[in-house]
Amino acid sequence: MEESQARKLICEIGKLMYERSYVVSSDGNVSIRLSEDRVLATPTMACKGRMTEDDLAVTDMDGKPISDKRASSELAMHLLIYKMRPEIKAVCHAHPPHGTAFAVAGLAIDKPILSEVILTLGCVPLTDYGTPSTNELTEAMKPFVPHHNALLMANHGAVAYGEDLWQAFDRLETLEHTAKIAILAKALGGAIDLPTEAIEKLVNIREKAGYLKENARCQACGYLHDTNIACDLDVSYPATSGDNGRKISFTREELIELLSQAAKLS
Ligand SMILES: [Zn+2]
Repeated sequence: MEESQARKLICEIGKLMYERSYVVSSDGNVSIRLSEDRVLATPTMACKGRMTEDDLAVTDMDGKPISDKRASSELAMHLLIYKMRPEIKAVCHAHPPHGTAFAVAGLAIDKPILSEVILTLGCVPLTDYGTPSTNELTEAMKPFVPHHNALLMANHGAVAYGEDLWQAFDRLETLEHTAKIAILAKALGGAIDLPTEAIEKLVNIREKAGYLKENARCQACGYLHDTNIACDLDVSYPATSGDNGRKISFTREELIELLSQAAKLS
């Protein structure tokens, strides 16, 4: 992509992220891979709603500055994604409130509750906490990057990526929208998961249509736990990820049953 066009687009997306409250103050960062060894990124400590095209920084694939502007200190997260996923050309990192609420509650967005989310985004795993701008953060993300197009980072925020910046932004938006719906559904008594057969059909459709490839199936995918769609990938995930802090809830009847069983035993 032409650099001048990329500069314009990053500012446009930055404004959208700010207006939609996906970021406040100087939160978040956006980048575009300009060529094999050049990345255009938002600068350090800049409000995404107020940056100008001249504020953006250019670095090489190791984060070394090529322009006189300093790139965001969280650029390492973007570079990891570019290195692990050659087809990815843009990354959006933000702290959208509903998605980030999942991340601070220790929850992944991996319940099969919306058919179109299964088709286009897939589940969003939760990666372990890592101090921002250190390799703790990138190490925690590593196992998930090949199989997912968006991640939640514990006690931090969200990152989404795509083959262009609009796709990355759309994925971030879908993540946030899904989290919001899940939270609202909880207030109405809780979301109901799609049945296993429906999930299998959706996964088959998305692979046939090319929305997501087979590498989007994986053990961390909450959708696949009860389906017959096995993941062939032999990847070991951190034991705490995904299930980290997941809550188990009981109905009143189940709770009474459990308590009476416990009373009988004692
Ligand atoms: Zn951040």
